[in-house]
Amino acid sequence: MTIGVLGAGQLGRMLALAGYPLGMDFLFLDQAAGTPAHQVAPSLIGPFTDAALLGDLARRCEVVTFDWENVPAAALDALDSRVRIAPPRAALSTAQDRLLEKELFATLRIRTNRNQAVDSPADLARAVRTIGLPGVLKTRRLGYDGKGQFVLRKPADVDAAWQALGNAPLLYEEMVPFDYEVSAIGVRGLDGRFAMYPLNRNLHEDGILRLTRAPWKAPRLEAAARRVLRRVMQHFDYVGVLAIEFFVRRGQLLANEMAPRVHNSGHWTIEGAVTSQFENHLRAITGLPLGDTAPRGHSAMINLIGTLPRRTALLAEPGVYLHDYGKQARVGRKLGHVTIVETTGRRADLRAARLMRRLKTRST
Ligand code: AMP
Repeated sequence: MTIGVLGAGQLGRMLALAGYPLGMDFLFLDQAAGTPAHQVAPSLIGPFTDAALLGDLARRCEVVTFDWENVPAAALDALDSRVRIAPPRAALSTAQDRLLEKELFATLRIRTNRNQAVDSPADLARAVRTIGLPGVLKTRRLGYDGKGQFVLRKPADVDAAWQALGNAPLLYEEMVPFDYEVSAIGVRGLDGRFAMYPLNRNLHEDGILRLTRAPWKAPRLEAAARRVLRRVMQHFDYVGVLAIEFFVRRGQLLANEMAPRVHNSGHWTIEGAVTSQFENHLRAITGLPLGDTAPRGHSAMINLIGTLPRRTALLAEPGVYLHDYGKQARVGRKLGHVTIVETTGRRADLRAARLMRRLKTRST
């Protein structure tokens, strides 16, 4: 069976590496050669809207999925009648637009932060008056890892925020004084069966995920996150892995955003869970039984951003797993990750803190 994947980044690479033992083949489509997935699987190279390439993909694959959220709608239009697409297109188009995402949360009665669409300086002034300061102005589309965001703290920031982002449709959100952030990752099969990984606790720096700790034991929050995941999945008749990120404030979840794909905060599941999120995504979209999502021990996942550590020292430690995505180093770019699997949460925390300190001193 050949799985087609739109986008050939590190998520695609980890999907392929999870699928090979199950006897699956992969065919990627991406704009450039030499991408992380292209290094491990055949890829069609060219624009996402190239009719000939999309035709080739549809002919050669049983199912098409994506590792990138910003796949143009035109690409999916061209594939739609010719090959099965999973997760569903509607989930992808909702996740591509922060306003649609917030509207979905409102429709499904999922608590989220206060927000308002902004298309003009007058809209922005009104949103700041209604929602207040501090707040975050975000592009509705194409934002990732904190890009396309502007934090407004005082009235004088309004003009600067508009200057920085004003040439695209925007969303103004209240700044949430959260206690911490978590994410929930679930998977739903072709037959509607559902499984969820334990909750992840996430630490972001400058809008980029730095550290995930799992399982994060918060039974009440986990039960609430499960309800949210199930509601969103039912709404879309979802197939595949879905991640939802939340702020936690005074013991309550506030949905921030959703990702209709495998998620960075689930990378620990490769070594830290019985079945990884990547394998479960593949199982779900191909109609295989879902695998056990139970954790094996306590994991800490650290993103390697901008620079990779020396592997000899890192790998000398037991229970440390390195993933190098094969990317060119660049400031702020996710180049890989490290997962530490430990016997207790406390040990995982201590080792993660030590490793993060070491990585920071190396990069300064
Ligand atoms: P996002 O791209 O919306 O997931 O934002 C990336 C990260 O920036 C989040 O995980 C938070 O750490 C921070 N952030 C984004 N929006 C807000 C907000 N409205 N209030 C507080 N922190 C935010």
